[in-house]
Amino acid sequence: MTVELISVGTEILLGNIVNTNAAYLAEKCAALGLSCYFQSVVGDNEERLSMVLKSAVQRSDVVILSGGLGPTEDDLTKEVAARVCGRQLRVDDDSMERIAEYFAGRDLAPTENNWKQAKVPEGAIVLHNDNGTAPGMIIEDERARVILLPGPPNELIPMFEEQVAPYLERLTPEVIVSQTVKICNVGESRAETMVKDLIDSQSNPTIATYAKTGEVHIRVTASAETPKEARKLIKPVVKELKSRFGNDIYTTDENVTLEKAVVDLLLANDLTLVCAESCTGGMLAARLINVPGVSDVFKAGFVTYSNKAKRKSLGVKKSTLQKYGAVSKETAEEMARGAAFITKADVTVSVTGLAGPDGGTSEKPVGLVYICCNVKGSVTVKKYQFKGNRAKIREAAASAALILLRGCILEYFSKVTFGKK
Ligand code: ATP
Repeated sequence: MTVELISVGTEILLGNIVNTNAAYLAEKCAALGLSCYFQSVVGDNEERLSMVLKSAVQRSDVVILSGGLGPTEDDLTKEVAARVCGRQLRVDDDSMERIAEYFAGRDLAPTENNWKQAKVPEGAIVLHNDNGTAPGMIIEDERARVILLPGPPNELIPMFEEQVAPYLERLTPEVIVSQTVKICNVGESRAETMVKDLIDSQSNPTIATYAKTGEVHIRVTASAETPKEARKLIKPVVKELKSRFGNDIYTTDENVTLEKAVVDLLLANDLTLVCAESCTGGMLAARLINVPGVSDVFKAGFVTYSNKAKRKSLGVKKSTLQKYGAVSKETAEEMARGAAFITKADVTVSVTGLAGPDGGTSEKPVGLVYICCNVKGSVTVKKYQFKGNRAKIREAAASAALILLRGCILEYFSKVTFGKK
């Protein structure tokens, strides 16, 4: 079954508001097993909206329109939908009552045009709006089911979740369930090569790879009659991915981020952490601090941008900075060791690099970054060469630091377990 989305509003067309409704609806419809082949944005213009809607009902099974249900002159979605579907508008008594109640509850008097919102196309299913005055509607046209939703997300989302999703679920016999396997340390092309045979041989579940900064996500999606059956189809594929990627999988839970995985690892091993950052300027600490519960492990973050700050706050030697420079393996190591000495944290991580756009040389090009991780005195320094603009390089460096941190902690404890430390 196919779905098509039409977002109505000149503000969206002009870029004054971001079309979050389309992103939300597309994701929800995909999860419900509907295939979305077309999305459009149309301004508040009768003729153009009518043109887009006429095409949509011809080619899609379900058409969802959002916006333009308000009380003003330029809100014309309902009028256009009624005309395209050959229906008259009639007053819906229930909506009339709800509008009266909505205004009475706020001690306000409705204006004449508010009553316009109580009119619905004949035969339409009315969707109640508990968060505003515009009711939603479903017109069951013989060509397609046309669903009209109000534009404000705080009205659209609950209406979709409570009334539209159950309606669509009844139309689609199968359910779609996805599970995401999140991988670090492996580039996208290598990850794709490693699962190419699975991608080629599977149609249910399907396997898709997505590149993220420093990570690759593999989404396994199955369709079945029940969620339980879909999960049963996904399970062996995830097991196979686990055997292929091993420790490079940091989670199979959609809601777990890389920083959360690192925080969980620190918590599980009862370790405290300190960051010493130069080019990332606190980005690494900020990502870690986004994780609820981080206060049990995160002690402090240093942003030591100048050489002087590196010396004063972290005890990096003047001679090291003079001989090797601020962006060097030696400086990165002294930053991490210095942070550990000063704070007595179990784990410290340092980042120093050239984010550009200026300051690069042939020996030390823009994008060169050194990251050092110190787990209870066991020190690892890695050199990276990132591509992209300043923002991209800083973002990549913060991700790489999280990945190195995770790898070093895992390695430290595997050695402890095997009695090598
Ligand atoms: P209202 O009853 O508030 O007039 P409406 O159905 O007429 O609702 P619009 O007037 O089209 O909706 O939009 C109202 C507001 O809803 C916009 O100013 C915007 O803040 C938000 N909105 C509308 N469409 C979208 C969208 N596609 N994505 C995100 N927000 C949106």
